[in-house]
Amino acid sequence: MPASTSEIKAYIQAAAIVIREHAEEVAALDQAIGDGDHVANLQRGLAALDSLAEELGQMDWPAAFQKIGMSLMSSVGGASGSLYGTFFLAMSKAIRNKEMNLPNLAEAFSQGVEAMKQRGKADLGEKTMLDVLIPVANALQQAAQESWALPQALENINRVAEAGCESTRDLIATKGRASFLGERARGHIDAGARTSQLMIGAIGDVVAKSLQ
Ligand code: ADP
Ligand code: MG
Repeated sequence: MPASTSEIKAYIQAAAIVIREHAEEVAALDQAIGDGDHVANLQRGLAALDSLAEELGQMDWPAAFQKIGMSLMSSVGGASGSLYGTFFLAMSKAIRNKEMNLPNLAEAFSQGVEAMKQRGKADLGEKTMLDVLIPVANALQQAAQESWALPQALENINRVAEAGCESTRDLIATKGRASFLGERARGHIDAGARTSQLMIGAIGDVVAKSLQ
């Protein structure tokens, strides 16, 4: 099943808009415990994807995810670029020859997160975007296994993404630049966790609207 152009465009634009709306907040988060470039890195990646949106819309999902992954790797820079790149390349591999539906998406998303964990040698509780992405992968799997209705699944995904993002506030970082700060990182939300939560929420809203 090809990814439709309007669908892909809507997801990319929703992500770009929510990141733009929160750009100052995210920059401040990364300035507090990182080097401050996270929002600019991400916006570069989203702009690159936006310029590919027409092309992506003509591709099937495995090819589109592959192209997204490669584009993020080359455009973003920073730790987040190669990590998101790895995520989408693994999603591409996992969804090959499969239909795009909730169980297969849940499995592909989990494979993406698994690849990201290996690439960054990180796991839950290290004050990174994995503190959002791991709970979201689990929520997708639960929704698929228990055949939840999509609106319910989306609501739960938002809830766990927000909780995961908030959970980074009280953690110390053991990976990434914030790990150099030790105890001083405590009290600040991780910028990458916040942006992944924002983008997941925005894309979920587009999906929810398409169901109405
Ligand atoms: P850089 O840290 O190279 O400046 P960015 O600022 O774009 O890159 O991204 C920083 C974000 O990347 C962090 O806020 C964190 O969420 C995420 N991150 C950093 N290292 C890792 C890792 N090993 N595993 C998962 N996520 C990570
Ligand atoms: Mg940074």
